[in-house]
Amino acid sequence: MYDVCVQLLQDRGVKLEDIAECAIMLQKDYFPDLRMENVLQDVKQVVAKREVQHAIITGINLDIMAEQGKLPSKELEDILMDDYSLYGVDEVLAYGICNIYGSIALTNYGYIDRVKPGIIAFLNNHEGPQCNTFLDDIVGAIAASAASRIAHGKEKGDNGEK
Ligand code: MG
Repeated sequence: MYDVCVQLLQDRGVKLEDIAECAIMLQKDYFPDLRMENVLQDVKQVVAKREVQHAIITGINLDIMAEQGKLPSKELEDILMDDYSLYGVDEVLAYGICNIYGSIALTNYGYIDRVKPGIIAFLNNHEGPQCNTFLDDIVGAIAASAASRIAHGKEKGDNGEK
């Protein structure tokens, strides 16, 4: 399932390194010495969680079905293709990821959703035929959760349970 999710993200234009870059942006003021290779491990640990994998596969499949016109509901297809701002179910799915990692993940997700760094800005530009309504929030939530792992890990001297 892990490999399926990583491949699915990659097929939609998101590498784990892109997510790690967002996590570094979130934590660089607190931990200026963060290294990509270490943060990438945090991102991989987040994606290794079953709940996270379920959110990834659910959200991305809804995006794909919308852009392929395969959703039974035309109303839902229009909402997803327009990335309708009052829809909010994409954010709720992302909270499901953040909830595993606590309040630091939730506040970081809120911040990342406002600032839209790097890959998230790219996913949000609404250019091209790809529907990213769920994907941008999933990516933001994984980055925010990795940032939470970093914060908790450093707090414990980086050698304890994260
Ligand atoms: Mg969205």
